[in-house]
Amino acid sequence: MLRDPVAAVQSGPSGAVAGRMSFTIHGIGVSQGIAIGCAHLLSVAQLEVSHYQVQPDEVAEELSRFDAAIARVRAELSAAAALIPEGAPAEMEGFLNLHLMILADSTLSEAPKELIRTQLCNAAYALTQQAETLLEQFERIEDEYLRERKADVIQVVERVLKALSGQPGHLPPPPQPDADIILVARDLSPTDVILFKGHRFAGFITDLGGTTSHTAILARSLGIPSIVALHHAHQLIREGELLVVDSTQGVVLVNPDAAALAEYRLRQAQSRLEREKLYLLKATRAATLDGTRVELLANIELPDEVDRARDHAAAGIGLFRSEFLFLGRDELPDEDEQFEAYRHVASVMGERPVTIRTLDLGADKHLKGAARVAPNPALGLRAIRLCLAEPQMFLRQLRAILRASNYGNVRILVPMLSTAHELRQTLELIAEAKRSLDAAGIPYRRDMAVGGMIEIPAAALALRTFTRGLDFLSIGTNDLIQYTLAIDRTDDAVAYLYDPLHPAVLRLLAHIIRRATAAGVPVAVCGEMAGEVGFTRVLLGMGLRQFSMHPANLLEVKQRVLTSDLGGAQRVVAQMLRTEDPDKLRALLARING
Ligand code: PEP
Ligand code: MG
Repeated sequence: MLRDPVAAVQSGPSGAVAGRMSFTIHGIGVSQGIAIGCAHLLSVAQLEVSHYQVQPDEVAEELSRFDAAIARVRAELSAAAALIPEGAPAEMEGFLNLHLMILADSTLSEAPKELIRTQLCNAAYALTQQAETLLEQFERIEDEYLRERKADVIQVVERVLKALSGQPGHLPPPPQPDADIILVARDLSPTDVILFKGHRFAGFITDLGGTTSHTAILARSLGIPSIVALHHAHQLIREGELLVVDSTQGVVLVNPDAAALAEYRLRQAQSRLEREKLYLLKATRAATLDGTRVELLANIELPDEVDRARDHAAAGIGLFRSEFLFLGRDELPDEDEQFEAYRHVASVMGERPVTIRTLDLGADKHLKGAARVAPNPALGLRAIRLCLAEPQMFLRQLRAILRASNYGNVRILVPMLSTAHELRQTLELIAEAKRSLDAAGIPYRRDMAVGGMIEIPAAALALRTFTRGLDFLSIGTNDLIQYTLAIDRTDDAVAYLYDPLHPAVLRLLAHIIRRATAAGVPVAVCGEMAGEVGFTRVLLGMGLRQFSMHPANLLEVKQRVLTSDLGGAQRVVAQMLRTEDPDKLRALLARING
């Protein structure tokens, strides 16, 4: 959702706001790389103007002031549309057109004149009165997308108010073809990010959010630098300012000086070069120095990401977060639509495994219009709990997955299991879905594997229930850490407590991997930790042989695996598991990666 597209068109990448000092803001980087571009603020401004009476003989003049302001804004918007650089995000033009349409709406361009005539009020006041009427109408719109267009109405009104107050309009500098845009938001929901998918933004930065929030995971999946938990960035940064987003370090430079900008451009070029070099590892088998094979699989959120996974030579899809098919839309995907999505991914991957996780809705991911306000959403009716409470919805998905199993090596992965009872109920529903397909004569793979996510400490500690009842396990470290350390992964106020190196987390991980391996049940890690190269050797040393991560991390992790001495890693991990001292743990982490 772009805001005020005119400002973005009018300030190129060299168009830092004149006279503003350069400063830095620190947050948590959620992906790798550096982005340089203009700030685009997602904001809702206040409309406050003074109210005064005009004399009857001043009405004509007030009316013409109003008409002139509307005409000026129309000219500004049209001029901006003509200046859109080639290659700019497609929605920029769309938003300018939307602003022109809002301006042309008679509620804003005509009705205020009636108020000026009848109530003898000043033009600015008349305009804001009408704007409020229009905004109230927007408030009642059911469609979330249209409702959110309120902010565009406010922007248009602000522009007219500025024109009325005689403030100079923006003078457009020459268009910059490479005007990259960095989205600056207070917060973004996973649904927002889904709506941004496919659009060209150089980076995202938000005031709120934790590193394993679904928003952060999605931003990472867009493959662009992003930083969360910047606290006041949204207030400090102005529209159109030049930003450097160093996602690797979690730092934003606002209005960098020429030397800093040159330095970051150089680093950006170097990191591109490194990525190109990594690409050469594509065809190399992932194995440690002693030849132990390691499987590197990909996490995807939407079916079209499978191409990226294949492109980075993923050994399979270790986690397909199927719930993203359900977000940000009015109609839920029916069985056939789901089947097509799963079949597509299965056929692209051929014989390589495709692990489709059943719906993990709830917590921070909600169906449109169906958001239930639970007192404690992360601990509420989420994932398998919600599916068992809505068996018809679950059965539709199970049938779709089973049907897709006929087109590749599909497996089911069940999120957030914690009890034997849930496991039994789930397996019974899978059997019921199979029976209904049998009755209809629809083929599916009868031996399709069923796995469970181990992401609740209770499941980790009562692992036997799950090693006995399931074909494979996958550790969701994002939730396992959230629930072990009691930190809401979406809450930036406690983001500093997120720590994969906490002794309790390390012990739980080692326990799950050891017990599952001893029981002969394959185990993977599919949380963000699997894609963090700093933890690759820790997990290898614990005995992990399957890692599932965002495709963008695959080759970097492969490079780390290729240079890993397994025996050495095991020895350091044994020491890590014996200590509870955070400093020693950090020193051991440095040693294992040294
Ligand atoms: C996890 O919890 O680690 C996981 C992979 O699932 P999600 O991030 O979708 O909750
Ligand atoms: Mg999870």
